[in-house]
Amino acid sequence: MRRTTIRRLEEHPNLPEVLAVLAQLAQVADEDLPRLANAWTNDAFVAQARGKALSPDSPLVCEVLSAFEAVSALFEDDLRGEAAYVTVPPAVASLALKAVRDAIAAVYARPVLTRAEHAALVRPWRTVYPDKTACEPDLGPQGEQVKALLAALPRLTTRCHDESDQALWDQLVDHSYVQESERREARESAFEVAVLTRRRRVWALVRRSGTEGLGRHCPLCRTPRVHDRETERVLELCLDAACALLVGDALPIAVTELLTAPIAALVPEQRRPV
Ligand SMILES: [Zn+2]
Repeated sequence: MRRTTIRRLEEHPNLPEVLAVLAQLAQVADEDLPRLANAWTNDAFVAQARGKALSPDSPLVCEVLSAFEAVSALFEDDLRGEAAYVTVPPAVASLALKAVRDAIAAVYARPVLTRAEHAALVRPWRTVYPDKTACEPDLGPQGEQVKALLAALPRLTTRCHDESDQALWDQLVDHSYVQESERREARESAFEVAVLTRRRRVWALVRRSGTEGLGRHCPLCRTPRVHDRETERVLELCLDAACALLVGDALPIAVTELLTAPIAALVPEQRRPV
């Protein structure tokens, strides 16, 4: 067995396959869940391969575990099975997620697995998603704007060192108190659109990425961020704007504008949807 020390995902020899699986996560369609569940099997060989893939010396195993966490977050509604839009029984979703987790474990651990072990773990996923090359989640027709907004969020984490960032932060806090109930209704209708246009898992992905971006330590002083009420408000404002852009092609313009106008200063070059 080769010993591998891989410190960052970018150094991973199996990077394209890892990225393809991660990109597909948020695009898993409801009708894929029963197919994944049916394809998943467990026997001694698969269990042993899984154990090896998740062992502490496996490449980037901490990242694998955080990907598992992301899976649980993206499929929270499906596992709970309460919402009216959830059509797949939670037990089926739960089984499907075992296939998802095995695929994640397989692609990360490929350098330490035999060909047969890798194939056995990834097989259920491959029966549903044969394509090994997809590279990023589809964020819709306004994806570039969603990405620009998500990319701007870490800027707010240096506000302790930069007056203009602090001023921007204060402005966002102020905006968060304006039209609160209108924005809540707008967010609800945007989420309904996400459900109807089959983008509710991408919605969850966007919110997760945004939360991560805003929650980072200041890179200069490493001060951990206190997650206080103010941060909560700014985060909500930014996530709602990102989600409005995500479904902006299917939302009334007034709704998109209501949700995106408060963060205009954060992404100044952002154009209004036409
Ligand atoms: Zn700082």
